[in-house]
Amino acid sequence: LDRIAPVIDDLGRRFAEAGHELALVGGPVRDAMLGRHHNDLDFTTSARPEQTERLLKGWADAIWDMGRAFGTIGCRKGEWQVEITTYRSEAYDPSSRKPDVDFGDTLGGDLGRRDFTVNAMAVRLPGREIEDPYGGVVDLAHRVLRTPGRPEDSFSDDPLRMMRAARFAAQLGFSVDPAVVEAMRAMAGRIEIISAERVRDELVKLVCAPYPRLGLTLLVETGLAEIVLPELPALALERDEHHRHKDVYQHTLTVLEQAIDLEDRLPGGGPDFVSRFAALMHDVGKPRTRRFLDDGTVTFHHHDVVGAKLTRKRMKALRFSNEEIDAVSELVELHLRFHGYGSGEWTDSAVRRYVRDAGDQLERLHILTRADSTTRNRKKAERLQRTYDDLEARIERLSEQEELASIRPDLDGNQIMEILGI
Ligand code: ATP
Ligand code: MG
Repeated sequence: LDRIAPVIDDLGRRFAEAGHELALVGGPVRDAMLGRHHNDLDFTTSARPEQTERLLKGWADAIWDMGRAFGTIGCRKGEWQVEITTYRSEAYDPSSRKPDVDFGDTLGGDLGRRDFTVNAMAVRLPGREIEDPYGGVVDLAHRVLRTPGRPEDSFSDDPLRMMRAARFAAQLGFSVDPAVVEAMRAMAGRIEIISAERVRDELVKLVCAPYPRLGLTLLVETGLAEIVLPELPALALERDEHHRHKDVYQHTLTVLEQAIDLEDRLPGGGPDFVSRFAALMHDVGKPRTRRFLDDGTVTFHHHDVVGAKLTRKRMKALRFSNEEIDAVSELVELHLRFHGYGSGEWTDSAVRRYVRDAGDQLERLHILTRADSTTRNRKKAERLQRTYDDLEARIERLSEQEELASIRPDLDGNQIMEILGI
């Protein structure tokens, strides 16, 4: 807590002098205990939003309303991004689907309605006493996600928490308590009452996390994926009984991890949602296009086009922006193009077409295609990588010859956004 001590103590004294309780809570407490630092500080307080706002005036550099009805006031103080939320009540209205907005009077009550024990810890200010009624410290040490109360009750109060379990597993690399997994399995269907936007936001955080495999596996094993991303579990059915064809589901998770390893190729580095989601969706067209040949082998006809279509449909349902939908589905559609290159028949104009069709997504297409060039056969994998090296070198040469300058836009999307200030 040393790094954040000056600012939290200062704010704590300010609230205490006015007769209000203030405590650091949730993410920043958990992350400080894990030795991770960020500049977002979340507090919970006995003060009502109007009182919080008054106390912040003269202290913060800027103040804004994060949603007064939910009791949250935001502000900035130097490098610190602060959110202060009035205690919520421990009581629930079981008939309401909306998050409970009844203000409460105690820190204990507020902690009891939080999602996981590791998120249900607080540091009272200004004295810095740790409040940990549900054993969050122990769970943190065991790296496990548990709910403060019965998981069934918690998920019935707010089904989004099931998505959050998968998200935090992916972010923290934690396991999930078996009783919590069981409750997720039993209650997966309840996720339907949550808005697509809120589900999407958790899914994006999961995919952009350091351990997406953990979160995705949990979604698939509990049946949540069947509802929020059914194209993914559908890949697991691809194992033919003779194991002649590789398991597309496992392959997909591997490709995702390889794509993550290649993210440092991008100008901003990672995490990059578009290339990760494209890796996740690149083969979703396979189940629809599977054909059994006379000799018993399996082939997939044009699964790129079908896959791009399915990707669009899913991303639309999850309310992604058109820009994100276009970017991801273009990658899915182009990911097979490279396979025609190995035969040595690509002319310069075929290479130019590849570059032009990829447009802004060229670097990501390099990532996806290289990530996809994995096979259990190491020799074959190396050969594919070398072939792709060759393609990239040719793209370099062609672009050096300035021939590409005339067919590529002068500015890329990032540069245009920078100029327009968006
Ligand atoms: P980060 O912001 O780094 O992603 P976080 O723990 O701060 O992680 P948020 O989604 O910002 O996560 O939520 C802040 C805190 O609010 C959580 O730590 C948790 O205690 C509580 N919380 C948020 N959403 C819910 C929910 N749906 N149900 C119960 N508690 C929640
Ligand atoms: Mg947060």
